[in-house]
Amino acid sequence: MNRKERSGGLVDAVNGCQRCGRCCRSLLLEADLLDAEREPLIAQRGSPLKGPDKDLVGYLLNEGSPHVQCVFLDGNRCVIYPTRPNMCVAFGPTDERCACRLPAAEGEDQG
Ligand code: SF4
Ligand code: SF4
Repeated sequence: MNRKERSGGLVDAVNGCQRCGRCCRSLLLEADLLDAEREPLIAQRGSPLKGPDKDLVGYLLNEGSPHVQCVFLDGNRCVIYPTRPNMCVAFGPTDERCACRLPAAEGEDQG
């Protein structure tokens, strides 16, 4: 089975995202205050991030500690997709950290 089949064939027709969810599981995920204003669940479920003056500057979305999956990831699906943070909107296969740009893991088919 290749990557496209594993993701249910839901490859984004516009940017080629495989919807594997690996970016949502492996990157440091910081939403800003505008993101939280647009989507109130970010403030409810994220961990507050403070600036040098101890003022609130945003929210960490990784569960528990950095490099643990996003609190909004359910399987490979984002439960706040229409109102996800701008960093998520901007991220895609053109980013060098995208999993589909990395060599396949041992035993993994090329998609
Ligand atoms: S942007 Fe890349 S890592 Fe993120 S879901 Fe799409 S293919 Fe996977
Ligand atoms: S908010 Fe959604 S798209 Fe952004 S990292 Fe979390 S699960 Fe992924």
